[in-house]
Amino acid sequence: MSASTRSVSAPVTAGKLSGKVALVTGGSRGIGRAVAERLARDGAVVAVNYATNETAAREVVAAIRADGGTAFPVRAELGPAGDGGARDLWTAFDSGLAEHVPQAAPGLDILVNNAAVATSSSLYELSPGEFDTVFGVNVKAPFFIVKEGLDRLRDGGRIVNISSGVVRIALPEIMTYSATKGALDVFTRHLAKELGPRGITVNSVVPGIVDTDTNAAWLRTDPEKRAWAAAFSAFDRVGEPDEIADVVAFAASDDARWVTGAVLDATGGSGL
Ligand code: NAP
Repeated sequence: MSASTRSVSAPVTAGKLSGKVALVTGGSRGIGRAVAERLARDGAVVAVNYATNETAAREVVAAIRADGGTAFPVRAELGPAGDGGARDLWTAFDSGLAEHVPQAAPGLDILVNNAAVATSSSLYELSPGEFDTVFGVNVKAPFFIVKEGLDRLRDGGRIVNISSGVVRIALPEIMTYSATKGALDVFTRHLAKELGPRGITVNSVVPGIVDTDTNAAWLRTDPEKRAWAAAFSAFDRVGEPDEIADVVAFAASDDARWVTGAVLDATGGSGL
């Protein structure tokens, strides 16, 4: 039986996403954490994927439960080998949902492809292995997560891919990472057309520079670099994870039912 024919009977929390089930890759820290918490506040059951930091994932799940929501952790390390870790992710998702939310029908309504890794190796330094890792986590994994997840994703569902403002600002020192996000945006556009007949929307949400662990080493320690980062935005400040999560929540909601194949700019007006 395909997921589209099943009814959802997940626990109901009042909110726009009541009765929905969501999976957020890399949901244990940074933007992913904010997205997981926001979708849970909106009433969705949230599967919080992480790679290695189980403590962080458990913290997010505990915070969501303390707030009256429903969440469970899903360990799966995404990467370049095989199908990018997609089947491991879905196996862990299926068993986590059955174990933690037994009253919910199998399958899901909202997939947020958020997990990514960056590299600052220049064109001259980058090794083939590093290239494969960055493209593996950031492009191959989302592609196969979607491919392997299509029979789980219900009709009328949502896919949100987390891109980056670097697709339209040339920063040669991170060109490999930027190229992965360009590929993700192209995937978004084509996938939106492919899945339109099922009423599934596919959109990219594009953060600018956001204060997360990824940037912590320089953003939280060097005032000059923070000022440089802030100056990209029309608001002259760095973004916060919840400011991206709010845009993802819109894309995941019924309010965005007529929006697909779009690149939703959440860069705080970077590079205007
Ligand atoms: P972050 O704080 O570094 O968090 C990364 C998350 O992804 C963690 O939950 C981590 O889990 C998980 N993760 C990392 N590698 C993984 C793997 N191989 N398999 C599964 N999960 C993995 O990242 P962030 O800054 O919030 O970035 C989130 C998204 O926003 C990314 O797509 C990033 O490219 C995009 N973005 C960020 C910024 C920014 O300024 N922060 C700007 C533009 C776009 P573990 O802790 O278990 O490793």
